[in-house]
Amino acid sequence: MYPNPKPSLNFKNPFECLVATILSAQCTDVRVNIVTRELFPVSNTPEKILALGEKGLIRYIRSTGFYRAKAKHILGACSELIKSFKGKVPASLEKLQTLPGVGRKTASVVLSQALHIPAFPVDRHVLRVANRLALAHATTPDKIDLQLRKNIPEKLWIPLHIQLIYLGRQLCKPKPLCEKCPLLPLCPEGKRRMEAKHAHP
Ligand code: SF4
Repeated sequence: MYPNPKPSLNFKNPFECLVATILSAQCTDVRVNIVTRELFPVSNTPEKILALGEKGLIRYIRSTGFYRAKAKHILGACSELIKSFKGKVPASLEKLQTLPGVGRKTASVVLSQALHIPAFPVDRHVLRVANRLALAHATTPDKIDLQLRKNIPEKLWIPLHIQLIYLGRQLCKPKPLCEKCPLLPLCPEGKRRMEAKHAHP
C-alpha cells in the first residue's frame, strides 16, 4: 500500500528534524511544513535559532499552537546541544531525551528519520493501528514501542512506523474504514467489526 514511505515533515538535516518534530506536537505536519519553510532558510542551526530569541522565534512558530512552550523547548534544546553536544544532534535515544521538550517519541523520530538508526516512534496513529492489527497489545506508547521492537524485524522499523501512520490517517482512523482496507483479511479488529456489522446491520 505504501512502498518506500517518506516522512511527512520536511527537513534537510537532523537539527531541522528535531525542531520540526518539537513543533509537530498538537499540530498537523502540513502546518509545520508551512512554518519551517519560512524559518529554516533564516535559522537552521542551534546558534541561529538562539540568535532569534524567544520573541523572534515565536514570530515564526505562532501558528503551530502552544507556541510559548514550544519556543522554550526549542531554545532550551539549542542551548543544551551547544553546551553538551558541540552543537550536533546526538545519535542516541538516551542522549536525545536529555534535551528539553524531547521525550521518547520525538527522540525516536529524529533517530529513525534523520539519522537512519532503527527506532519505533509511537504516536496516536501507531498506537491505535498496532493494537487493531494485533502487532502489539497495550494502552501506553512506551509499552507499544517495546512490543513492536520485539515483534517486528529491525530492518522494518523505520518504514513500518511511517506506513502505520499513513494507514491510520487514511483508513484505520478512529472510526475505521475496514470495508476499503486491503489488510482486512489479516486484521483481527477489522474482522471483528465486520462480523458485528453483519450480525447487527
Ligand atoms: Fe484498521 Fe479496519 Fe484495516 Fe484493520 S481492517 S487495519 S481495523 S481499517
